[in-house]
Amino acid sequence: MESVEEWVKKLNVSSTKDVQVPKILFDQVIGQEEAGDVVKKAALQKRHVLLIGDPGTGKSMLAQSMVDFLPKEDLEDIIVFPNPEDNNRPKVKTLPAGKGKEIIRQYQIKAEREKKDRSRSILFIILSIVFLGVVFAFILSDWIIVFFAIMAAAFVYMAMAINPAMRAERAMVPKLLVSHSPNDKPPFVDSTGAHSGALLGDVRHDPFQSGGLETPAHDRVEAGNIHKAHRGVLFIDEMNLLRPESQQALLTAMQEKKFSISGQSERSAGAMVQTEPIPCDFVLVAAGNLDAIQGIHPALRSRIRGYGYEVYVNSTMDDNEENRNKIVQFIAQEVIKDKKIPHFDLGAITEIVKEAQKRSGRKGKLTLRLRELGGLVRVAGDIAISEKSDIVTADEVMKAKNLSKPLEQQVADRSIEIRKSYKTFISEGSKVGMVNGLAVLGANSGMADFTGIVMPIVAEVTPSQHKGNGSVVATGKLGEIAKEAVQNVSAVFKKLSDIEISDMDIHIQFVGSYDGVEGDSASVSIATAVISSIENIPIDQSLAMTGSLSVRGAVLPVGGVTAKVEAAIEAGLKRVIVPRSNYDDIVLDSNHQNRIQIIPVDTIEDVLENALVETPERQKFFSRIKSLITPKGFSSQQG
Ligand code: ADP
Repeated sequence: MESVEEWVKKLNVSSTKDVQVPKILFDQVIGQEEAGDVVKKAALQKRHVLLIGDPGTGKSMLAQSMVDFLPKEDLEDIIVFPNPEDNNRPKVKTLPAGKGKEIIRQYQIKAEREKKDRSRSILFIILSIVFLGVVFAFILSDWIIVFFAIMAAAFVYMAMAINPAMRAERAMVPKLLVSHSPNDKPPFVDSTGAHSGALLGDVRHDPFQSGGLETPAHDRVEAGNIHKAHRGVLFIDEMNLLRPESQQALLTAMQEKKFSISGQSERSAGAMVQTEPIPCDFVLVAAGNLDAIQGIHPALRSRIRGYGYEVYVNSTMDDNEENRNKIVQFIAQEVIKDKKIPHFDLGAITEIVKEAQKRSGRKGKLTLRLRELGGLVRVAGDIAISEKSDIVTADEVMKAKNLSKPLEQQVADRSIEIRKSYKTFISEGSKVGMVNGLAVLGANSGMADFTGIVMPIVAEVTPSQHKGNGSVVATGKLGEIAKEAVQNVSAVFKKLSDIEISDMDIHIQFVGSYDGVEGDSASVSIATAVISSIENIPIDQSLAMTGSLSVRGAVLPVGGVTAKVEAAIEAGLKRVIVPRSNYDDIVLDSNHQNRIQIIPVDTIEDVLENALVETPERQKFFSRIKSLITPKGFSSQQG
């Protein structure tokens, strides 16, 4: 595939403004063609779907797009009525969409009319009492009677106003639980993170449970998301976080296609109430990352497998012309969705596509973790707005990248500052037994691993007290890895050095390593430090390296190379050694381009040739090992 710079020249648009954005949501989802096909099929057949994959890759978009394909069924309104026979068993009725509101309106009008009639009769009674009082007062010539009449009237008013029978009128208005308009699309309800009441429905607590002040039970019934999603799609991300009881209840709802609502908290007055079964005929789309599968109730999963589909969504797509164009479409979509930020020019598009390459972490791929990429688009847009610019250029994207660094990157930046001021690593001169290794942070945190760090490794070799009884002592979090690395490469040492490794104590220290540093890629650095120490040949400190070492001395590929090379650049180093097979994985943005010499290597010998500085010892060392090494590692006949 040609470079992004070459490709962008061939685009026949001058900015994302000229890009057509598809109207229906389904076509806005990029890079998930297989999942798209499945989801479409599932919608047409009303099947449940389990979508598994990385966060922010379009799972909820896919779920939402299903409503456009659901078979045309009539939507229904759901109403709860009071039950005169048993107040705690409210009745439920379904009506065609739009009818629910009408019915409620009629009840309200009736209730209001009755209320008016009632107020009129109260007023009549009160006035009559007062009038009679005046008449008697006149006849008996005792005006105190008027006072008593007014008192009596006030008493009657209060008694009637509080009377439960009078208030009961309000109770007779049924409650609209779920309502639609006749032309509505099927509902899409996102129930991610909802507690059981919100998911399954609830009955509110009533502090006044008697005495005429209580709210009638049917009025306290609240619809659950399963009911709101009736004849539509119910989406639950992070399905594994839903409590097992709720998953069980969800399963029942899926089997029965109806579910009564009762109070969810045991000690509340609502717990006594249980409605008639309420329809909940939804398509479930459950989502989560790969680990989530363990947290999904086996019966629920088997229900989905038996009556639906399971799909693993993509995290990357191939880096080709078609897919680069999709990234352009994606940028246009995000700009339009945001409504405030300006469009992206060709330079800005170039930087975003390169970022998509880089974040994929693999050669020839583009990331599909588009929520995160969308974040970058918005920050770049916001910067353009703050600069009063009506187009986003490469400049704003570069600034945005600095601003929207993930936490890991911020931690790394901070630690580089500290390390520089305390000189835990040096970036010039040479030193025996000390190597600038490279590691990545946060590789296991679910982030695409894009944060590198310079991690100095120091080796010291001393003769062991007893011959043949040497040990490897490694400190820091990476101790175990170091010991393994030394063991793995002891075959290499044997060939490279006259000295019998088992006669030596080897001390290895990872300077300032801490939690979250991944270290299996440090074996080349460890080997280099140890050899330098054994042979007493200094290592160039303006150089950093990464790579994994095979027992035969070949340098094998590692993860996160781009981030590591960036870390070396940020630390002010001049050269960086990487495994040759990783060379094409390195995608540098314009901020980092041409700032460091990248040296691809195949073997530990290549590494040593570049890392060890010219000294008489070095010459002796190389002339000694030349005979042992073939161009591709060590020849097997030799050992
Ligand atoms: P998920 O459900 O997988 O966590 P979402 O579907 O909620 O991810 O995606 C969040 C946002 O990221 C979307 O609103 C959209 O802006 C963007 N996005 C994610 N994946 C895609 C995709 N495949 N195509 C287009 N946009 C996407």
